[in-house]
Amino acid sequence: MYPDVALYIDGSWTGGSGAALPVLNPATGEPIGRVAHATPADLERAVAAAERGFARWRRSSGFERARILRRTAALLRERCEHIAQLLTLEQGKVIAESRQEVERGAECCEWMAGEAQRIYGRTIGSRAAHVSQLVIKDPIGIVAGFTPWNFPINQLVRKLTGALAAGCAIIAKGPEETPASCAELVRAFADAGIPAGAMNLLYGTPAQISEYLVPHPSIRKVSFTGSTAVGKQLAALAGRHMKPMTMELGGHAPVLVFADADIASAARILCASKFRCSGQSCINPTRYLIDRSIYERFVDAFVEAARAIKVGNGLDPASTMGPMANVRRLQAMQALTADALEQGARLRLGGARIGAAGYFFAPTVLTDVPLSARAMNEEPFGPLALIRPFSSLDEALAEANRLPYGLAAYAFTRSSTLARAVVEQVQSGMVSINHIGLAAPETPFGGMRDSGYGFEGGSEAIEAYLQTRFVTTADL
Ligand code: NAD
Repeated sequence: MYPDVALYIDGSWTGGSGAALPVLNPATGEPIGRVAHATPADLERAVAAAERGFARWRRSSGFERARILRRTAALLRERCEHIAQLLTLEQGKVIAESRQEVERGAECCEWMAGEAQRIYGRTIGSRAAHVSQLVIKDPIGIVAGFTPWNFPINQLVRKLTGALAAGCAIIAKGPEETPASCAELVRAFADAGIPAGAMNLLYGTPAQISEYLVPHPSIRKVSFTGSTAVGKQLAALAGRHMKPMTMELGGHAPVLVFADADIASAARILCASKFRCSGQSCINPTRYLIDRSIYERFVDAFVEAARAIKVGNGLDPASTMGPMANVRRLQAMQALTADALEQGARLRLGGARIGAAGYFFAPTVLTDVPLSARAMNEEPFGPLALIRPFSSLDEALAEANRLPYGLAAYAFTRSSTLARAVVEQVQSGMVSINHIGLAAPETPFGGMRDSGYGFEGGSEAIEAYLQTRFVTTADL
């Protein structure tokens, strides 16, 4: 059922010239298929194809591009079950989340189709009657996009739709560990009518691909989603070659729960979001800062909700949380938990691997976690809820801003004064109050500080793929 995954270059699927490497099912740890790896020769072919593809695609109208994006959305919905099954097989997430991810991908195509029709310039009144002054928006050029394994469809669809809606060509490097769902996404775009060369999909050795593409003179824009450490390396490389970047990097999201919050509702909402995708999401609440006066009540409610999670193979409809996506995350959960416990944290739930096959780790709740614990400083990227009490607003705000990340932040309170304090003082690209309301296609998604820069989603998204130019003409 799981296919061998090929590269998509110049409108054709190809095995590539590198060795094909195995893809593992994280629910079993067993190989399920293979993914082609690109060599430098494949990269060269992809760039040459993108140059031709861009020359053609940039001349298409926004309306034509929108039609193709809408057709892609329809194909994704038609193929949703097939793609969702592949996504769960290779990534581990539960099938309901995989279906939602495909549907979100379709919605992203529709949103960006609208954006393709809304690329506006402007006129600027001139100082002389015979002079006209225009601001125009052109597609920026060929984009190199790098996407990770946690939301394989969503991370890739944002880059594909942004680039293609703007009239750019794109060479995407997908995640080698979860390649088949990405390939099916690209197939939907291709079947909908994206011309050969305008969209290419590669897999391979990540550093080799980025070191070839980022400095390449034909690449005019770099967009990366992944860890802060890799993001900083790529930003330095892109900076040396004066390439604009969009950087969607890691986070360590604080959530502040104040004494006047609806505690039961906050615990339920936060539990559902914490363990989605087994906690492997960059906007996941990770540092739970709870007003001391409601601390034990919140912890009890959260633990009760977390205890109800059913961990199992994502293909089993009864499972509500799947395995970690790879063995690195499983090992990281074991190491981060052991370190927190050694440093004095209290284990309220979970804390260990489940079973000996696959990469399952129990939903884990740790309270009173010392700030020196590794998990309070590194992005946990897994099903660890780290809970601490606070005694004052200032203490909570100081902890929220202690780390260099600034992607998502959350607060639960009925007080508009407290909500405003969080919005004004927590340094974070996105703030969500009393719900988890981030990452819809129509809303901007992006961070600040070590979480990166630039936005995907919202009306900001297409700007990243446009070059603003100024044209002035004097009548003769
Ligand atoms: P990693 O840092 O090696 O890889 C992260 C992603 O970057 C992967 O998709 C990888 O293929 C890609 N990558 C790595 N080196 C690259 C290079 N030189 N050029 C281009 N792409 C490169 O580690 P990992 O084990 O996959 O993940 C570790 C951490 O990364 C996680 O703990 C999490 O903090 C972060 N992460 C963040 C996101 C996100 O959505 N922002 C997604 C995945 C991983």
